[in-house]
Amino acid sequence: MKIGLTLLLVFSQVAFSHGSVNAPEKHVLDEHSSKKQIFFPNTEEYLTISTDLHTHSVFSDGHVWPNIRVAEALKDGTDLIAITEHLEYQPHLLDIPNKDKNKAFVEAYQSVKNNELIVVNGVEITRDMPTGHINAVFIQDANKLFKKDESKKAEAEARVKEWLKNNSYESNPEVLNHAALTSLWPSEEAISEANKQRAFVFWNHPMWSDQTKDGIARLSDFHKELIDKKLLHGIEIVNGDSYSKEAFQIAIENKLTLIGTSDVHNLIEWDYIEKDSHRPVTLVFTNNKNKNSIKRALFQGRTVVWFKDSLIGLKQNLIPLLESCLSISSGKYLDDTNILSIEINNNSGASFILKNSSSYSFQNYDDLISIDPKASIKLEIKTIEKLERLRLPFIVLNALETPKKNAEIILEYEVGK
Ligand SMILES: [Zn+2]
Ligand SMILES: [Zn+2]
Repeated sequence: MKIGLTLLLVFSQVAFSHGSVNAPEKHVLDEHSSKKQIFFPNTEEYLTISTDLHTHSVFSDGHVWPNIRVAEALKDGTDLIAITEHLEYQPHLLDIPNKDKNKAFVEAYQSVKNNELIVVNGVEITRDMPTGHINAVFIQDANKLFKKDESKKAEAEARVKEWLKNNSYESNPEVLNHAALTSLWPSEEAISEANKQRAFVFWNHPMWSDQTKDGIARLSDFHKELIDKKLLHGIEIVNGDSYSKEAFQIAIENKLTLIGTSDVHNLIEWDYIEKDSHRPVTLVFTNNKNKNSIKRALFQGRTVVWFKDSLIGLKQNLIPLLESCLSISSGKYLDDTNILSIEINNNSGASFILKNSSSYSFQNYDDLISIDPKASIKLEIKTIEKLERLRLPFIVLNALETPKKNAEIILEYEVGK
């Protein structure tokens, strides 16, 4: 990857940077807060990498320095984060007049010690509809993704007036002028430059009620054109606290990669962990744990979104993940009975709700079974006749393979004679 001159200059000033934040050591976290750690096992074929491809810092409208984003990811076990500042909306412009739009990424990147976290450069290209907000991640130079054309001042002023009439949330004139001028640069040019940099590009929060009043995600003609030209590769079906069934359907119909992100502006701790929840992540299934391999997997649509303890993904990605999360570890018939006692293990940091879809009934449960993260349960199955081989199908009530269909897995076990 080519590093531009500005980046090199910044890299040479390490001594003056904020440096790393003292996040607790990983082994301490594993012991004390394993329940709150994001953890999914690898599948039979791929590594499972947890990513948050949409985060903000003070370099746009976030409220923390970028190194805090790194510390948070180390704390909750996210493997990769992208720092994706709004290029146009810069509410801290007067206090942080950053000339180099790669700066937030550089600050985060430099605070990582010993390659313990992957940080990628990104931006949020910010427009009104029909473009909306578009993230480009794995970019090479953010400075080429926005333009401020002073000759369009009059047009920008008119736009500001329009915004103020509609009760814009920001009233600082300099911030508004910057946003208006930069958003006059046609978004198709920014998106095409992102593609030139071989970025992975996705549409953010298509369900955001500020941009679609009824909260229903719909592709605009502009998005359709981007998809036709292969310039748009993914869509957020989850953003922060919201999920969109319609966006999931759009992703299926248009072969867009399913993405779920935190879009965090405040603190992950306050927004999720304190509420006994977890940040939404996109699990990516890759051959190697490096940027290129992860990017390739994103382009190939190998993702599952984890949102409020539910897994959402296409069947071909979801089933192998579920099969590595859940397994049967032991099984034997209870003395002098035809009741098979097995142990089902949850090898992940997620919990699962399973519904029996076999013809068997259970001795110690009804048809609904929940298994906590990294826990096991004993299940006694009335198999009527003694089996040598058990095939036990379950519908996973917190896993969706289409907007309307839960995933089904079959747990198998060789009982022997
Ligand atoms: Zn946005
Ligand atoms: Zn955002």
